[in-house]
Amino acid sequence: MVDRLGLKVDVDTLEGMREGVPALLRLFERHDIRATFFLSFGPDQSGRAVFRLMRPGFLKKMMRTRAVEMYGWRAMLRGTLLPATWIAANSPSLVREIEAAGHEVGVHCWNHVLWQDHLPRLSRERVEEELRRAVDAYVDALGHPPHSCAAPAWMVTASSLEVQDSFALDYCSDVRGEAAFMPRMNGRTFRTPQIPTTLPTLDEVLGVEGVGREGFNDHLLTRMIRPSEVHTVHAEAEGRAYRDLLDELLTRLAERDRKVVPLSDLALSIRLEELPVHEVVVEAFPGRAGRLAQQGELSRDSARESQPA
Ligand SMILES: [Zn+2]
Repeated sequence: MVDRLGLKVDVDTLEGMREGVPALLRLFERHDIRATFFLSFGPDQSGRAVFRLMRPGFLKKMMRTRAVEMYGWRAMLRGTLLPATWIAANSPSLVREIEAAGHEVGVHCWNHVLWQDHLPRLSRERVEEELRRAVDAYVDALGHPPHSCAAPAWMVTASSLEVQDSFALDYCSDVRGEAAFMPRMNGRTFRTPQIPTTLPTLDEVLGVEGVGREGFNDHLLTRMIRPSEVHTVHAEAEGRAYRDLLDELLTRLAERDRKVVPLSDLALSIRLEELPVHEVVVEAFPGRAGRLAQQGELSRDSARESQPA
């Protein structure tokens, strides 16, 4: 089988939705590829990121990755000096346009900043409310329920995995890791398979160990060693100031016969009964200021016997 790259586009902000998404639709059409767009539906409070300057390591990362160039000033001030506005929930026709172009549309979240900054402190009911609102907005726009979800900022808890299970999704892409697996956390095994992001993101690589903008695609291509890889891009970055980089990457992938696909294509080749069970761990990650969810060790316990009723 031909080697594949699952392409995951996270849409975190209003600018990413309004400017990044249409530009990416044109880019993908030119390359004749399909991808998965995970949409934030609710308020854009990305400006709250300014307050994360207080967090150790964040300022360093902002400087290193030139966050203003990546996200733009408006996005950085949104929800602080500028009013918060709904993202995909306010653009149902654009959501339909993504699907009509042949791409997969999945749920990222309702409130990205809330999930990213507070998930471990949210009650199960609150987590359910967040996902319910996103799923309702999704159904309003597309007329059918979502088949997939990808947690903001690679943040999960046992509660969020449990809530995702209740939405009967085909798969989730919440974590960083090596290959598809069934997630286990806090002694429980969940029903929804995980298709992890396997490659580093642009902001994790830029400025690290001498890799600059020019070297990013080389770096990424040398990391593609498995038959199936998953790469995550952001509509606000690769859909705008870094679009030429993604354009070049797609050209080089075509030259190498690596087929770019939506994650739903990867999910189709999963045989659930054969998937290994892995722990999900939340730990520090190279190039990131905070901790994020990762595929941990292979679990010795069987997936099937410990599922919640
Ligand atoms: Zn995101």
